[in-house]
Amino acid sequence: MNLYEYDFSNLRLATILSSERITPADDPVEVRHLVLEVPGEQMDYMEGQSIGVLVPGPHDFGDAYHFRLYSIASPRHGENGQSDTFSICVRRCFYIDDVSGERYPGLASNYLCNAVAGDAIQIAGPYGSRFSVPDDSTANLVMVGVGTGIAPFRAFVKHIYEERGGWKGQVRLFYGAKTGMELLYMNDVRHDLSLYYDEKSFKAFEAVSPRPHFDAPPDLEGIIAQNAKEIYEMVKKPNTYVYVAGLSDAARNFAKVMTSEAGSKDVWKADYERLVQEGRYAELLYE
Ligand SMILES: Cc1cc2nc3c(=O)[nH]c(=O)nc-3n(C[C@H](O)[C@H](O)[C@H](O)COP(=O)(O)OP(=O)(O)OC[C@H]3O[C@@H](n4cnc5c(N)ncnc54)[C@H](O)[C@@H]3O)c2cc1C
Repeated sequence: MNLYEYDFSNLRLATILSSERITPADDPVEVRHLVLEVPGEQMDYMEGQSIGVLVPGPHDFGDAYHFRLYSIASPRHGENGQSDTFSICVRRCFYIDDVSGERYPGLASNYLCNAVAGDAIQIAGPYGSRFSVPDDSTANLVMVGVGTGIAPFRAFVKHIYEERGGWKGQVRLFYGAKTGMELLYMNDVRHDLSLYYDEKSFKAFEAVSPRPHFDAPPDLEGIIAQNAKEIYEMVKKPNTYVYVAGLSDAARNFAKVMTSEAGSKDVWKADYERLVQEGRYAELLYE
């Protein structure tokens, strides 16, 4: 990560208001929903933007800070309408050292997952604006995400149905996770995105791994393929916007199914290029 690309002129402290594990205690994957507050500050962010977190050092190689980005999971008016708050969805990461074979905790994700209510976290940003909600409320939205890639879509869906209301375009969310228990905001336990299942325009499709014990990826391609005809028809319309987030598998799975539905690589390439040129395709991929 090249730190020179980022503007650090707006560093400030955010206080953790709550940290809730949103995967069950017995699930090997730990993902937490953190709500943070910057007291007295009107947080100025949009759906799809990320917040920068600085883990204080000193770190290996003499780095004073360790800086990582996290997608904001709240809509623009804040978590539960509180404008000085925002939420993030953090997966506790571990890495295997190539040489020693030992497992090490990722710095920022463990720092955040270990933080408790009342702790102060240094933040910067928000950054990025590749995802934006169209002004036209008849626009169709196709969202494809894996893992914590659901975070910006939680923000999107809350914004269009709660903050804005009256969204008329069709909204399709394709979301993949390793196990049924890792469906984050979509599962029955948490009720969050599932609140919108009654909205006529909203349909969510969940893919889980066919073999979670073997760490197999979720069958995102399969659920997109089951709906390929409808999605491709939507994509051909001039008022459809496509957003892809999370692991890069999400983009690969989507492109593979669309290529097959389009009939050839060249046809999908032309469709895809038109989406990009018209500002109707955006990716937020981070692995
Ligand atoms: C735009 C964007 C949005 C993102 N949104 C989210 C989000 O919403 N939620 C989310 O959970 N993540 C998100 N991420 C990913 C996040 O920024 C971090 O990359 C992730 O949390 C891992 O960071 P870390 O500091 O925990 O791990 P790091 O400490 O950065 O580890 C990263 C690398 O360092 C190596 N490594 C780490 N520790 C050691 C060690 N001790 N010894 C040897 N090697 C080591 C590993 O090879 C590993 O690949 C996003 C990324 C981007 C770019």
